[in-house]
Amino acid sequence: MKRSLVIQGFFYYNKAMKSGSLFVISGPSGTGKGTICKHLIRRIDAELSVSMTTRIPRAEEVEGVSYFFVTDADFDKEISEGGLLEYANVYGNRYGTPKAPVCAHLKNGKDVILEIDIQGALQVKQNFPEGIFIFILPPSIEELRQRIRGRGSETDASIALRLSEARKEIEFIREYDYYVINDVLEDAVANVEAITRAVKARVDAESLTILEQYR
Ligand code: ADP
Ligand code: 5GP
Repeated sequence: MKRSLVIQGFFYYNKAMKSGSLFVISGPSGTGKGTICKHLIRRIDAELSVSMTTRIPRAEEVEGVSYFFVTDADFDKEISEGGLLEYANVYGNRYGTPKAPVCAHLKNGKDVILEIDIQGALQVKQNFPEGIFIFILPPSIEELRQRIRGRGSETDASIALRLSEARKEIEFIREYDYYVINDVLEDAVANVEAITRAVKARVDAESLTILEQYR
């Protein structure tokens, strides 16, 4: 049976082409998800989803590339119109994944990467369990502390909050398919890349369409 794709009321049945895979890269704040995804996207043929956020842009960030920066009212409107695949409040700011581009890419056979927090990943898992869920771990809580401090954007109180949240969040690793420890960045990127390539090489009902060309 061909795989069907159901995302919050959207239904696609792709006869002609293998649908894309949805890779969800998630983990506590400061583990290096963003850094890994920035490198990963240069090494694999996939689309990195651009999230919507109510956070103020940082100096280097570009509208529509880093995020879609919106007001609280816009964010509420997007939720009420069913435009978000998932959304969460992460340390006081709201973040969500626009549904339409993700659905369109998957339908067209393109792989999509979501770099999102754990609350969001769990929502995606409920709506789209066929996704591939990858948990990024820091080498240790102490190294996580150093990384968050090194990023220079958090106060001591905010660092303490993120570390206590991280300890709780790590328990959710059980819900994921794979984990990668982000110790040496290059190795972590290579491991995430290896997971994506292994997933693409899985023999399943859909991939058996390749048999056609050998008959
Ligand atoms: P996240 O997206 O998970 O919140 P970031 O990608 O912003 O995390 O990374 C947090 C900080 O840690 C950044 O300053 C980043 O440069 C640094 N970092 C990421 N990966 C590594 C690594 N493997 N070794 C050392 N520092 C890293
Ligand atoms: P930052 O503000 O540092 O860019 O991101 C803060 C946190 O929000 C990170 O953990 C990041 O993964 C998460 N995040 C970014 N976009 C989304 C999203 O669309 N949905 C969810 N749930 N989390 C997101």
